[in-house]
Amino acid sequence: MTTETLGFQTEAKKLLHLMINSLYSNREIFLRELISNASDAIDKLRFQALDNPELLDGNGDLKISIDFDSDAKTLSITDNGIGMTRDEVIENLGTIAKSGTEEFFQQLSGDQQKDASLIGQFGVGFYSSFMVADEVVVQTRKAGTSEGTRWVSTGEDEYSVSDIETERGTRVTLKLKEDAQEFCERFSLQSIVRRYSDHIAVPVDMPSADTEEEKDKRETVNSAKALWTRSRSEISDDEYKEFYKYVSHDFEDPLAWSHNRVEGRLDYTSLLFIPKRAPFDMFNLDAPRGLKLYVQRVFIMDEAETFLPLYLRWVKGIVDSSDLPLNVSREMLQDSEAVRTIRSALERRVLDRLEKIAGDDEDEYSAFWDEFGTVLKEGTVSDNQNRDVVVQLLRFTTTQDVSNPETGRAQQRTSLKQYLDRASSEQNHIYYVLGDNERAARNSPHLEALQSQGIEVLILGDPIDAWMMSHLVEFEGKKFQDITRGELDLPESSQEDDKKDETDESEEPLLKRIEEVLKDKVEGVSKSKRLIDSPACLVLAEHDLGLHMRRIMESAGQSVPAAKPTLEVNLDHTLVKHMNKEDDDARFGDFAQLLFEQAAFSDGSFPIDAGMHVKRVNRLLAELLP
Ligand code: ADP
Repeated sequence: MTTETLGFQTEAKKLLHLMINSLYSNREIFLRELISNASDAIDKLRFQALDNPELLDGNGDLKISIDFDSDAKTLSITDNGIGMTRDEVIENLGTIAKSGTEEFFQQLSGDQQKDASLIGQFGVGFYSSFMVADEVVVQTRKAGTSEGTRWVSTGEDEYSVSDIETERGTRVTLKLKEDAQEFCERFSLQSIVRRYSDHIAVPVDMPSADTEEEKDKRETVNSAKALWTRSRSEISDDEYKEFYKYVSHDFEDPLAWSHNRVEGRLDYTSLLFIPKRAPFDMFNLDAPRGLKLYVQRVFIMDEAETFLPLYLRWVKGIVDSSDLPLNVSREMLQDSEAVRTIRSALERRVLDRLEKIAGDDEDEYSAFWDEFGTVLKEGTVSDNQNRDVVVQLLRFTTTQDVSNPETGRAQQRTSLKQYLDRASSEQNHIYYVLGDNERAARNSPHLEALQSQGIEVLILGDPIDAWMMSHLVEFEGKKFQDITRGELDLPESSQEDDKKDETDESEEPLLKRIEEVLKDKVEGVSKSKRLIDSPACLVLAEHDLGLHMRRIMESAGQSVPAAKPTLEVNLDHTLVKHMNKEDDDARFGDFAQLLFEQAAFSDGSFPIDAGMHVKRVNRLLAELLP
């Protein structure tokens, strides 16, 4: 097979186009991407050569070389790593094989700045070379094979592949655009390469002089020492940030990191990063996750997911252990006692780091919460051991708009501790209301009495919230209470008149009469102490399955019958008072049904026959007309 010309996959074409147009101001990152690919290729070869030393072909001097020619306006990045076969070239450089690619394209807005940051999270990789090059040539030969492949493209619709003879590994040659000539000048190139490659454990060399005669003299431009093996005090923030971009392929700086060496029963080093932004595919469980695993500085695998619990799947970084064998497999990792120990230590480190951010800088933590709050909530469900720590990290919106006493600014979020600090000492519960979204929860009629008494309620509108609350029992000795369920236990002092709670004998017949009408729909009808402005609301028993939990279970394929609610009626409401005087049974029936329907509407959890509702309302309205 010689030359064939192939079209880029549609997604690849789109990405190429977007990248060239949105990332213009940041184009030097192409070099980071290419160096990072070269370093990965060397890591892979080194790893495979552990079992298969002949792959090295007698050349185990693994390195990356940068060459440039300012006359021809070319730049090349060469590695003697694993290389690619012809099929792999077509697969890797002609398509995007990332799960969630389609969703990613749907998220793009056309706004260049927003899209640029999304592309950054998506990972730009090899294609970023077209930001600076009119043409890119890849020459590669896979270790252990004899045929080489040449790939050429101008980054438009097509590329061609042909057979060639070449060294093991990969050379990427860029024919630089007119306005990208700085990438073939030694000084500027050297400083960029240094910035992007200093922390890489592989040596990167380049010519040490410009002149033709001296071009053979080369120097290694990076320290070629894996960053995490150095001591913390020797590493600058910028170096950490660069390293983060290298491991994560992110564009932005990380929010924070935690670098630790542990010696003793187990020996390992970890360097964990908390990104600023959630990856676009965080809720796609097939998306890659996990840390880069090294054993005694030898790269073993990407996406070692056993080292972190699922709810921390967005944490990036590396772990380097001395207690695992070099030939460790994914299966072995899952069964390893050492890995389990390391995992719980790493989890603690991330949580500690988050606690520190929360303690030091509320705004920063709030920004973190906006991105990762939902996924962190999973930790309250899945993590029995650290639940107490995770709970402290939760933030809520509440019925109270409070401002931060220090900054005077409105505080959007409240921790449970802040909530309790504000609550009266007689309050024995942490009250919350669930809704399909924040707005729906805020409009719940169940809130009325609590609000009129100044009792703060947590507003929960995230789909995961019901699931989370089913795992939270109490915080600092105060029980959580869903205000739409069971007996509402309010603080003593706020119940001015206890007698008001008891149903007075004269009220019984009205409640019975309503119950008679609604007996198919409700468990019972009772006098409410939750309501002020609304005539009625629906209440579930303490242990009934609510709508939100029911949905979660239904989406998991279990069918669950809806529980029958109790209708609570506000006997002080004009409408209800009027009903008490209604002699016409048909009219009374309409009113009773309306009470139920209104309550069901504002709750959103119970089915309503909309057609019947409209008829009823019209019937009553018609009677009002002169
Ligand atoms: P990513 O590195 O995020 O996977 P890229 O677009 O940069 O995405 O690269 C796609 C794939 O091409 C890589 O995953 C790798 O398999 C292959 N590849 C890229 N550069 C090299 C290289 N220098 N040597 C070997 N394989 C490479």
